[in-house]
Amino acid sequence: MKAARFYKKHQLLVEDVPIREPEQSEVVIRIKYCGVCGTDVHIYEGEKGSAQIEPPVTLGHEISGEIVGCGKNAKKFIIGERVVVDPNTYCGNCYHCANDNHHMCDNMIGVGTSVDGGFSENIIVNENLVFRLPKEVSFEVGALVEPLSCCVHGIELLNIQMGDHVMVVGAGNIGFMMIQLVKNIGASKIIAVEPNEYRRERAKQFGADIIIDPINDDTDKILLEHNIPNIEHVIDCAGLVSTAEYSVQYAGKKGKVMLFGLTNPDDTIKVKPFEIFQKELTITSSFVNPFSMQRAVALMKTKELHLDTIISDIIDLENINDVFEQKLYQNKGKILIKCSD
Ligand SMILES: [Zn+2]
Ligand SMILES: [Zn+2]
Repeated sequence: MKAARFYKKHQLLVEDVPIREPEQSEVVIRIKYCGVCGTDVHIYEGEKGSAQIEPPVTLGHEISGEIVGCGKNAKKFIIGERVVVDPNTYCGNCYHCANDNHHMCDNMIGVGTSVDGGFSENIIVNENLVFRLPKEVSFEVGALVEPLSCCVHGIELLNIQMGDHVMVVGAGNIGFMMIQLVKNIGASKIIAVEPNEYRRERAKQFGADIIIDPINDDTDKILLEHNIPNIEHVIDCAGLVSTAEYSVQYAGKKGKVMLFGLTNPDDTIKVKPFEIFQKELTITSSFVNPFSMQRAVALMKTKELHLDTIISDIIDLENINDVFEQKLYQNKGKILIKCSD
């Protein structure tokens, strides 16, 4: 089967790899689509990213597909079922697993990072990582379940109340999901901050009430014009030093700042402790998707979420290098790799 294997910085090779038989409770999935995530870009660019990598490894962890084989103890699915994959396996034995913080697991295994992932025609994973894709959800949208599940976890950590004011900094794919989720919770006003005009307009379509260009607009003036008394939650989806600092600056009294987008591992930001004290700020983050996959799948069925229009490009597996070399991910929206027919 064909798979895109990462060897080293800027070297991702589409090559033939042998297929093995599924063991015990494993299933074989014929992958339809696998989304390109910021983590894949970080790895391709040779940055440390969010995961430990031991090349060569097949990248990709946002997977939808169809069951084509079952190990002899795999009982959850039958051949032909449409599914999505949770990429993260927890050991169940370490200190953090024992304390019900599975996603902090010391021995976490990640599909598409520590073991072979989804930029491939097939994948073999334990059936407990696999979830049924509802029939009303396409394979394309199914590939967005994993990033959506990460957003769901982040939103839950914020504990947004109805009527709160929420600022989303960075209107990319994650920002578009966050805006929709926040809207559904009942935020009174959603403020989207984004320098790119096209993305600002998209943010509006997805439910942002106020849009701000942080480079050319006067943020304070716009917030004043719209009578925003306090911003209870700021979600930084961009992961830049400038956006993290902006997020702290505009979080209101008793506000929570969620640094959701990944910065480079060695980035540092300037924060005034006095400002944290004065506003009694909480600065937090959100790591992967503990127990939120099933709920993300359920959310996909609701009519209030519009995920299909987040997808901008579908690229065949053999042309995957175009995505990274031409930086297609900087364009308009989510890029999916089409892995098989
Ligand atoms: Zn991801
Ligand atoms: Zn563990």
